Amino acid sequence: MKHLKGSILGLGFLALIIVGGCSQHNQKGEGVLKKSDMNLAAKPGVDFFEYANGSWMKNTPIPADKSRYGSFDILAENANKAINGILDSVSKATNLKAGSNEMKIKNFYLTGMDTVKINKVGIKPLLPEFKAIDAIKNRVDLRKALIHLHKMGVSTLFSVGVMQDMKDANTNRMYLGQAGLSLPDRDYYVKDDANSKNIRSAYVKHIAKMCQLVGANAKKANAKAKKIMAFETRMAQKFNTRLENRDYHALYNPKTLKELAKNYPNFNWKAYFKGIGADITSFVILEQPKYFAELNNIFRKVPLSTIKLYLKWRLLNDAAGTLNKEIADQNFYFYSTVLSGVTKQSPRWKRMSRVTGSVLGEAVGQIYVKKYFPPAAKTRMIQLVNNLKKALKKRIEGVTWMSESTRKEALAKLNSFTVKIGYPDKWEDYSKLKVGTDSYVQNMWRAAEFSFNKNIAELHKPVDRVRWGMTPQTVNAYYEPSLNEIVFPAAILQPPFFYMNGDDAVNYGAIGVVIGHEMTHGFDDSGRRFDKNGNMRDWWTKKDSDQFKARAQKLVDQFDAFEAIDGMHVNGKLTLGENLADYGGLTVSLEAYRMALNGKQPADIDGFTNMQRFFLAYAKVWRQNIRDKALKRRLKEDVHAPGKFRVNGGLFNIPEFYDAFDIKKTDPLYRKKEQRVNIW
Ligand SMILES: [Zn+2]
Repeated sequence: MKHLKGSILGLGFLALIIVGGCSQHNQKGEGVLKKSDMNLAAKPGVDFFEYANGSWMKNTPIPADKSRYGSFDILAENANKAINGILDSVSKATNLKAGSNEMKIKNFYLTGMDTVKINKVGIKPLLPEFKAIDAIKNRVDLRKALIHLHKMGVSTLFSVGVMQDMKDANTNRMYLGQAGLSLPDRDYYVKDDANSKNIRSAYVKHIAKMCQLVGANAKKANAKAKKIMAFETRMAQKFNTRLENRDYHALYNPKTLKELAKNYPNFNWKAYFKGIGADITSFVILEQPKYFAELNNIFRKVPLSTIKLYLKWRLLNDAAGTLNKEIADQNFYFYSTVLSGVTKQSPRWKRMSRVTGSVLGEAVGQIYVKKYFPPAAKTRMIQLVNNLKKALKKRIEGVTWMSESTRKEALAKLNSFTVKIGYPDKWEDYSKLKVGTDSYVQNMWRAAEFSFNKNIAELHKPVDRVRWGMTPQTVNAYYEPSLNEIVFPAAILQPPFFYMNGDDAVNYGAIGVVIGHEMTHGFDDSGRRFDKNGNMRDWWTKKDSDQFKARAQKLVDQFDAFEAIDGMHVNGKLTLGENLADYGGLTVSLEAYRMALNGKQPADIDGFTNMQRFFLAYAKVWRQNIRDKALKRRLKEDVHAPGKFRVNGGLFNIPEFYDAFDIKKTDPLYRKKEQRVNIW
């Protein structure tokens, strides 16, 4: 249940992005912003994204195994190589202790690399699982099967997970949520645009093909595919949209076991929770009542044979990437080629480095930070974060539309931020995780069960405040409202985000904005609903809240107006939290930079003033090329707007940008003062 987190970059359907390798970039100011990457013929006021990145975009094709390619992806790519270097040397070691983290890394990685064995084993590990599903005869059996599948990490019918109570951050609580669709968004099942229709028909073909690959004849496979599609569509029709899932108040529906039994009587919730090892003494939080009402109908009205077919499909679909070549290739074709336009699969070592670095994330992370994260980087980051905090404090104190009572709460919240930099103080304990050499897919199931059990056990423990929601090798950062914390993994603390001894203008324009972005998530349209202790509580006066909404609405309208591709627009409401965070990040980092300058005027570098370098560094972070299909997909699924609009739409609200590049009233990016967003 990680939906609370606000991050700088969408993770979504990209696998975890992993990075490493000390960069060879110039650490001084010179040459950091290359003119040869820009398009100096473009006008900053027409399309700043193009001006800052045009030549780079023109000269940097998207590699065949990527759906998009930009600063984040390049770091990830370099770095995945560094992770691979770690895996390679651990795998070659012959003196590893049985049960040690290193031994687990070695066995996990090598078992996943052994394609001869993977092809030979084929779907054998799935057969007893299929048999068990086939043997389901009644609702009791079905419940037991769901318990088993959920433990294996196979998302079916609904999800469970333990997270802090949104209204009582000192207590862990069980959450129940909608889950178990195979297409990446409910919209694909229910929308009638050509793109959704095409994907639906390709999906049905894909299921049929997969059924054939596990032994069904063509006729039976087609019939199964249609049945599965119809069933998932029935689920999807009652799913919340992504936008509805941003409304935390609507997601907060406490239910005792008695209430669950009364409202949704066709499933034995009490026995289910007992089965997963959760002792529910008070209540659970049910996120989407509309879907659970339908789920209750499903348990009674849908033939067991249909549900069993669906469970087998979910199991196969979930495992597909880890199975033999024919199945893994077909899975890649649908999920990467059809959905995102990627034509070539990454080499196996890249994929296995990513997966190992994610499944054994903190075991690999420990080695990674020792090798690649200098302690001095942490010290420098702490300084920067403190400067940014001072700047945000100044901005909040200076806001004219906010009443004193709201301001006091806002400042208290800022003052209570927990800051985590680099890597966790306490590393994950993998002693209960079993890694074998029997098969890749069984290792994945065991890893899922390890995470599941660990999460469920949290229910009976105090809130863990030192945990990390990302591995150190992740190129990303996040804000978590229930912990009121901002977190910056080691891997984002390198160029082009962070130059250890680099030009301040560039550092504030890049990592400074990232820090400000995460801080602002504490005050964005959803973060502002949580107080300094991480509790969802309305600390805003009605007048201040109305003011905030009216000001934020400008941002919604601005982004709604951006057409990204083929008549498809950015969704201003879905991306509002991120756009607010970019706006706040820019504003606060500029303030911090001004405070650091303390009236001094730094020299020009490479013909750019310091303010120009600030904005160019920001634009450089977001430079990217993206495939049309991936762009269409992200417009539906990603709460972050495409890079181009994060740059152009981020900057036209910032007064300093107009001065730095002499933006004229006649320029397309020009917005009148009253049109600009003005919050912080
Ligand atoms: Zn964000």
